[in-house]
Amino acid sequence: MLKIMGQAAATVTQMQTYIKKVNPKVPDSVIKMIPLYISEGAVEGVRGDIAFAQSCLETGNFTFSGSAVTLDQNNFCGMGVTRNGVKGNSFKTPQIGVRAQIQHLQAYGSIGRLKQTVVDPRYTYVTRGCAEYVEYLGIQENPKHYGWAAGKNYGSKIIAILNNILAVTSGTTEKENTVKVNIKKMISKKNCYIGQNKPAYVVIHETDNWSKGANARAHALAMKNGNLAGTVHYYVDSESIYQTLEHSDGAWAVGDGKGKYGITNRNSINIEICVNPESDYYKAVDKAEQLAAYLLKQYGWGTDRLKRHYDASRKHCPRRIQDEGLWPSFVHKTAAYMNGTASATAKPSTSTKPSTTTSKEAGYMFEPKLVKLGSEGTSVLLLQEILIARGFKGKNGKALSLSRKADANTIYALKQYQKSRNGVLVVDGECGENTWKDLIAI
Ligand SMILES: [Zn+2]
Repeated sequence: MLKIMGQAAATVTQMQTYIKKVNPKVPDSVIKMIPLYISEGAVEGVRGDIAFAQSCLETGNFTFSGSAVTLDQNNFCGMGVTRNGVKGNSFKTPQIGVRAQIQHLQAYGSIGRLKQTVVDPRYTYVTRGCAEYVEYLGIQENPKHYGWAAGKNYGSKIIAILNNILAVTSGTTEKENTVKVNIKKMISKKNCYIGQNKPAYVVIHETDNWSKGANARAHALAMKNGNLAGTVHYYVDSESIYQTLEHSDGAWAVGDGKGKYGITNRNSINIEICVNPESDYYKAVDKAEQLAAYLLKQYGWGTDRLKRHYDASRKHCPRRIQDEGLWPSFVHKTAAYMNGTASATAKPSTSTKPSTTTSKEAGYMFEPKLVKLGSEGTSVLLLQEILIARGFKGKNGKALSLSRKADANTIYALKQYQKSRNGVLVVDGECGENTWKDLIAI
């Protein structure tokens, strides 16, 4: 049994090679739109290669011979052809046609909500989740006799086509990363979990640092100097990408989630998008999409591994992406970059030309507040993260939690730290300027 939901196994090249083989006269427009199956599928979690195999079946390998629909209808799955003599639905562009098909498959394969606006005119007619498996798309094979088509072994026919596609050896080096990004390295070993990261996710953040000059390079410098208690692997602004940690080192980036949602500092690669006024925000987002695509490709992952800080802890991050509802398009464009169907373009912006202010680089990036018994907030979280990382514990060896609240245990651990810095720090259980300076070398 083959699930409809999931990540495609066939590559774009395999699908293109296959269709040229079975239909040598296949129109160029069809070849060009094949990546859409993968990118549109990835957005909704539907296997795009299954959708493409279904299109091959429904359109007679895009010959449309004996089909009720024609190529210019952009209807590649017989949508709306409910009986003989009916012409079926039409869609404005191939992309919308493929999207409608993906959405229709999603309706059959899952009970989840769509990520994008519904374009499938028949979406609501489907009994949701009635065909988790491709085999059940055939009404005769479906245990409850729902399904996409009435013909015998409809699902098995799709699977047979898919298997032929997967058998295609394209002859190209699939392993080569086709996404190209220009990464500047400024690797830091400070405030991180050295050698303790086994990446399984790519996580997107925003710096929330609206200060002038707080660009990627400034953050990278501040991190290298140990001035940042929250750390990541990459900083991106509209001009450049800086790598600041090796992937094998764990960032201090999503610890506030306590692993509750499966994403931790020890299984993630973290990317921060800069929001400083000199950076063209949408251009920076576009760059981050390219970087995410590059990393996902490098690890052979799909966009199901692409997450927000929000997904790790419910923190409101990346703030502007969330506020402007940009996340679905972020995932979509990342998938497009992975499949070579997006070009590096960004929304036009009214922002002024970058002034490359770098004079105030160090010193203002992170301003920790005084932490004492009862304090709450980000400064407390950072203190707790540092104390835990350095092995300090509460009373009777009780482990500290990342509670963002300075409870008796946190203060106890802080005092132990201050004691360990005999002669350097006063043991007062308050994390003021001196203790912060000592902790993170501001
Ligand atoms: Zn974040």
